Amino acid sequence: MNEYAQRVLDGLRARCAHEGEFLQAAEEILHSLGPLMDSHPEYEHAGLLERFMEPERAIAFRVPWVDDAGRVQVNRGYRVQYSSAIGPYKGGLRFHPNVTLSVMKFLALEQVLKNSLTGLNMGGGKGGSDFDPKGKSDGEVMSFCQSFMAELYRHVGPDTDVPAGDIGVGAREIGYLFGQYKRLTGRFEGVLTGKGLSYGGSLVRKQATGYGLCYLLEAMMQAHGMSPRGMRAVVSGSGNVALYAAEKAQQMGMAVVAMSDSQGYVVDEAGINLAMLRQIKEAERGRISEYARRVPGSHYHEGAAGIWAVACQVALPCATQNELDARAAQRLVSGGLLALAEGANMPLTQEAVGLLQAHGVLYAPGKAANAGGVSVSGLEMSQNATHLCWAFDQVDDRLRDIMHCIFRAIDRAAADCGQPGNYALGANVAGFAKVAEAMMAQGVV
Ligand code: NDP
Repeated sequence: MNEYAQRVLDGLRARCAHEGEFLQAAEEILHSLGPLMDSHPEYEHAGLLERFMEPERAIAFRVPWVDDAGRVQVNRGYRVQYSSAIGPYKGGLRFHPNVTLSVMKFLALEQVLKNSLTGLNMGGGKGGSDFDPKGKSDGEVMSFCQSFMAELYRHVGPDTDVPAGDIGVGAREIGYLFGQYKRLTGRFEGVLTGKGLSYGGSLVRKQATGYGLCYLLEAMMQAHGMSPRGMRAVVSGSGNVALYAAEKAQQMGMAVVAMSDSQGYVVDEAGINLAMLRQIKEAERGRISEYARRVPGSHYHEGAAGIWAVACQVALPCATQNELDARAAQRLVSGGLLALAEGANMPLTQEAVGLLQAHGVLYAPGKAANAGGVSVSGLEMSQNATHLCWAFDQVDDRLRDIMHCIFRAIDRAAADCGQPGNYALGANVAGFAKVAEAMMAQGVV
């Protein structure tokens, strides 16, 4: 590892010892940046890595609300405004009980490089709360969202920071958040993306991360003389990213045979019936176990992690961080895995990534592979700013172009670093290069 990068990492380990997720992401990135630091000694003099490894701002706040039984509840809210070097902060909001400052910082750091890779001028941020929308009534979710925005509105705006959805934050939550922002500020403006189509949303935003994932997979496989057509695929999760990754995978001719939720997974050798799964997960907010009750021939298994025992040629982890460890990766390799692209953020442990790379499996990291969501968010911001509304195919074509462009950028960066095919390295280097140039130009800020 480059000496300067190692020193910065040692400093981080001492200062952020309790921030496991953030350290995991930072370590992976710093390991990749050696070649760039070697060729740019001026970065060390400018303290570039020390500055890059510290978010510009991390806001934590109280979110009090009243539940249906009249009891006062208190959650903790966050917004990490990580880097505005190349544009206004941009990144999703996550509502999940395991949200901590460390999780927010890791997601925001990844978001900075991801947004840079899209080629659009967006900085990086992330936010959320330890609030769990599961099992709450619509009224409780609205009450929470209104209280969350009562603080967040001071920190966001169409030219400063534009949040979107993530785990636990879908169309319903974005609607409540937008309504409260409008009431507090008196302004109807593009302060959030992922909005409903009737109030400034973009076509394809809902599908964007999942579709984009498949477009990047397609580009990566083509570059290695393969095609997704006819491949047997496993997709973890059954939320926004997973459902539309599975839809595009099927459209590309892949057979999606297994999907999961946080409790377990289903195997359907006839191919997952997505209309049924969407009905259960999107419309009814139910459990995936229900799928096996309704679809003859399919089987439900308790325990989400077991899904990686299902043999496949393509794996698309689309659920959550660290859902796939080295043992699971070994099983996938033994089952004939050819390619894996990350729909979720950091779904693989570092050991799992190393194992896939050692076995020659094509591996696309999340910061490149799941950039489709934020890309279309960027297109939503453009449409809001110009008061235009683009057609589905127009946005979808732009998305596909962006994902293929991202693949070319990470492919070139990996080759330039002397490690062709190492897309984890390529994504970090290509994403960081633009941010570094902007930081150097803007002085010590
Ligand atoms: P959702 O909340 O819509 O869905 C998450 C899904 O993952 C749910 O099906 C959930 O199950 C499942 N899940 C949660 N934990 C586990 C687990 N340990 N094992 C298996 N399944 C699990 O979130 P999104 O689809 O929006 O986000 C998924 C991932 O993609 C996250 O890492 C997110 O950061 C990333 N991402 C999302 C983007 C977006 O545009 N939405 C953009 C880029 C990245 P259950 O139904 O039981 O809760």
